[in-house]
Amino acid sequence: MTLSDYKIQEKEAVRDRAGGICEVCGKHLDNNLGDFAHIIGNTKNNLKLYGIDLIWSRYNGKYTCLNALGHSCNAKADIGHSKAGKIKSYVDYVLRKLGAQNVK
Ligand SMILES: [Zn+2]
Repeated sequence: MTLSDYKIQEKEAVRDRAGGICEVCGKHLDNNLGDFAHIIGNTKNNLKLYGIDLIWSRYNGKYTCLNALGHSCNAKADIGHSKAGKIKSYVDYVLRKLGAQNVK
């Protein structure tokens, strides 16, 4: 599977799981117009630390209102400013889920 295919697959999984509802504010998003919001942020540093598989995993994503339309829901999904312990336990959770799914 290419990286592009993986991203599309995980985005669709997040959208389907959310049932078209923003997972931050609860708003119904018409025509599935939502963002894949990263819980552990999609930054250069995080990609280096945790890898693309984890960062783009459905378990590291929330379906949210579109950032491009000026909503803040996407940013609210990010736990990057939390204490290190909270971030580490979230990373461990995603790794367990990825192991269970046997993705790479
Ligand atoms: Zn929202």
